[in-house]
Amino acid sequence: VKIVRSIRKMQLLSRDARLRRKSIGFVPTMGALHAGHLSLIRRARLDSDIVTVSIFVNPTQFGPHEDFKKYPRMLSRDAALCRKEGVDFIFYPSAAAMYPKGDKTFVTVEDLSSKLCGLFRPGHFKGVTTVVAKFFNIINPDVAYFGQKDAQQAIIIKQMARDLHMPVSIRVLPTVREKDGLAMSSRNLYLSEAERRGAVVLSQAIREARQMIQKGVRNPRLVIAKMKALIRKKGNTRVDYVSIVDICGLNPVQRIRGKVLIALAVWMGKTRLIDNSTVEVPYA
Ligand code: AMP
Repeated sequence: VKIVRSIRKMQLLSRDARLRRKSIGFVPTMGALHAGHLSLIRRARLDSDIVTVSIFVNPTQFGPHEDFKKYPRMLSRDAALCRKEGVDFIFYPSAAAMYPKGDKTFVTVEDLSSKLCGLFRPGHFKGVTTVVAKFFNIINPDVAYFGQKDAQQAIIIKQMARDLHMPVSIRVLPTVREKDGLAMSSRNLYLSEAERRGAVVLSQAIREARQMIQKGVRNPRLVIAKMKALIRKKGNTRVDYVSIVDICGLNPVQRIRGKVLIALAVWMGKTRLIDNSTVEVPYA
């Protein structure tokens, strides 16, 4: 695996691969790689001739009081994992190079970016779409891989690629979980032992919701109330949101039918965790 820090160099390597008619699979990450990231990398390795993984803790997607500074950084460990997975390039740029002094251009997907997490993290998705658009211009991938773990992010990126006619397909892969159900996340490293045990409540609440819906409950308010009650029972939690929304517009549904997204964001102590699941029920 080759670690590429220079944007120009990365662009030349991507162009060279393209000229040799190699397909490029791209996995954007913020590093501190775990099995969730590895599932995306493995898929890319199966699909593409060249696999590029970016590792970049993107400052523009963090709010002023968020965890940008303390976000885990472990390049040599990540590089060893990438090498083992047969990754060709790790793109590891500096923030100064990604955001040149005097830059004035940002990419915003309107409407979708202000729902769910966007309400609690203003500017977050603008940071995400801007950096991913930059990556696409530097890496020129045929396929880019994203996790269902960040469902809203995946929906927003798809919308961006479609609206801007970006010549890339977006593939979304299932959430990888710990044995007890907790969705893997680099932020799980922040959790104390007690918080880690409590964090299982996110996936438990989703499981409870799925069971209620399977038993025929169609009123989202009843499902959400049950989920919130479960979460509240665990100490040291604070709910940002628990929502059941349509998967196109991310708007709260009045009744559960068709395909809906159950999504939640919950603070475990000082750590903000998210999880989600889609559910499909017949329209009748
Ligand atoms: P991050 O490094 O957290 O920005 O995540 C990089 C990519 O990995 C994003 O597309 C995430 O959705 C995806 N990802 C993170 N955690 C998981 C997980 N538990 N399962 C599947 N994909 C994940």
